This record gives sequence, structure tokens and C-alpha cells, in this order.
Amino acid sequence: MTIVDAVAEPLPRAVIDLAAVRHNVAHLTRLIAPAQTMLAVKADAYGHGLLPVAEAGLEAGATSLAVLEIPAGLVLRRAGITVPLLAWLHGQDTDWRAGIEADIELGVSAHWQLEAIAAAGADRPAIVHLKVDTGLSRNGATREEWPGLIRAALELQERGVIRIRAAWSHLADASIADDEAALAEFRSAVVQAERLGASFRVLHLAASSAGIRMPEARFDFVRFGIAAYGFSPFDDSTGGELGLIPAMRLEAPVTEIHVGGTTHARLGIGYADGVPTLGIAKTSIQLNGRRCPVIEVAADSMLVDAGAHRVEVGDTAILFGSGTDGEPTAETYADWAETIADEMITGVAARVPRVYIN
Ligand SMILES: *Cc1c(COP(=O)(O)O)cnc(C)c1O
Repeated sequence: MTIVDAVAEPLPRAVIDLAAVRHNVAHLTRLIAPAQTMLAVKADAYGHGLLPVAEAGLEAGATSLAVLEIPAGLVLRRAGITVPLLAWLHGQDTDWRAGIEADIELGVSAHWQLEAIAAAGADRPAIVHLKVDTGLSRNGATREEWPGLIRAALELQERGVIRIRAAWSHLADASIADDEAALAEFRSAVVQAERLGASFRVLHLAASSAGIRMPEARFDFVRFGIAAYGFSPFDDSTGGELGLIPAMRLEAPVTEIHVGGTTHARLGIGYADGVPTLGIAKTSIQLNGRRCPVIEVAADSMLVDAGAHRVEVGDTAILFGSGTDGEPTAETYADWAETIADEMITGVAARVPRVYIN
């Protein structure tokens, strides 16, 4: 093979279609009405970019945002976002006071967090969402710990340190039967807390999966993540089948052409940018309207087989996108790489520029 041409600076990019985000949020919000949408923008909005996605989601009908950690909430506040924000992942170095004074609502699942809030010395009461574990065993008070957490929270509320706003939990989404058992567990935890004297302004439980298929789990709002980005939370359907549009298109330029019996094109994107190295033999990408099998994935580049077709340096390959032009979606790519679309989109490296359209 001979190298025909090459360019110096390959630039992959992730094109984010904000109209797709707005479409998905509006579609999901209509589906769950009168419940409302809390848009999950954790992990830099699943790799799509925190602020542009937050703004698009709010325009399309989301009424609050789930940010995971306080610093991300502070970024949104500094950008002028005024809607309710919920942060629930706290560590030893969490700046509680900054979060409380920025009106970031706090998910609380343990005593030490209540103590840290009380010690923070903020100038106003913290708004807290008390989290109970309903089977996922991830970041929630166990049913044994729950009554103690409620009593401690009521005491702090009495002292004006916190205001209890919500009871909430997270579902495993493993099966409908599991989710129904967790729903019953959640209801019973709420009743128990109310008997102890708590009253909740809102309840929330469902993420994308239960939000779509379990109406009785929607309560006051659904915390939509993956579906808002255009993907199905279910194994047996695609985002498209649910009326959703994938919002991210991952593109890379052709940087070299090797002409031999068949044309091989090198693309300026590799595993350092988040391209999976698993399942390469099954994988194909879209180049000039045709699918091209992937031959290898290196750190900063990948090689594809363009067959007998004409390809030039500077042409744009699409690794995944909305699927409407024959390209794979992140769901298809995830199947080849034996993972889920969530990992494909959040795995796109920070060094890949995000470009916004619509
Ligand atoms: C990530 C997350 C969500 C969103 O989940 P999806 O399945 O992506 O919709 C909702 N709630 C919590 C607590 C989460 O961590």
C-alpha cells in the first residue's frame, strides 16, 4: 500500500443536535403528564455538554435538573439557571455551604450528611430530599437506617437547619417485577416516615425506564437521563422505536488514504477519544453514504475498509449518529462493543470538541 495523502491535524468532533434534545424532552414530558420532568444532566449531560443541554431541556419543558454533585450545580447557577437543582453525590470535601447558599437541593441518605449540613453554617435552611434504598443498594438509607434518618432530619428541621422537601429512591430497572417490589417498598417507607411526623411536598422514584413503562412510579416527577439523549432504557427496543432521536453524532475526518487492492482510509479518531476496541470485527462506520468495515482501532486513529469506493482526505466519517442517513446509532455501536449506549456517549473523551447545532 502507498500513502497517497495526509493531513497534519485530525479533528474528530461530537455534533450535538439540541433540537433532538428538545424533541426528546418534550416527547417524554407529554408522555408522563401531569408528572413533570427532572432532566438528568450528570456526567456533563451524558457527554453532551452541561449548559447547552440544560438550557435546551428547560426550553422543552423540563422543570428541574439532576446534577449529581454540587460543583456542577454551581456551574449552572453561575450561568444563570434558576430552576430547582438536585445534587446527591457527596464526599468528604463537599462544599455544603456553597451548595446550600446557591439553593441547590440536597439528596441525603446518611446521618453524616445531615451532620455536615448542620455544621456548614449556611445562611439559610438546606432543602433536602431524603433517599431510601428500595433494593438497588446504591446510595440510599437502608430500611433499618430509614427511621433514624427521618428522626434526625425532623430534629434538624425543628431547629431550622433544613427543610424536608422530598422522599425519593432509585430503581434498579432490572425487571418489571423488581421495580414493582421496589415501588411497594418505597410507598411503605413513605408511610413509615409520615407516621414519624415527616411530610413530603414531593415524591420521586423513576428514571427513564420506569418513567416510560410504569405510570404508577412517576409520582411528582421523573428523573429522565438516557431517554432524553435519544436512547432506549430497554434491551428490546431502540430509541427510535420509542419516538426518540439520538442527539449526538460522532464524526472524524479521513486523514490518510492507502490505495491497494481495496481502499483503506485512516480516520483521525481512536480509543483515546472513546472509540471502543471491543467487537471491531462486527463494527462498520459510515463514510460518504456507505458502510465501511473497521479494520483496527489505535489510540488516535482507526483504519476502515472503503472497498472500491472513492474516498478523499478530509472526507467526514460518521461513527454513530441519529441513524437517519444509514449510519449506526450509538445503540448499534454499543451492541457491537458489548456495552450500552450510555457508555458510548459518556465515553467520548473530553478532548473531542462538542459542536452545537439547532
Ligand atoms: C443517572 C440517574 C438518573 C437517570 O437515569 P436514566 O436511566 O439515564 O434515565 C436518575 N436518577 C438518578 C439518581 C441517577 O443517578
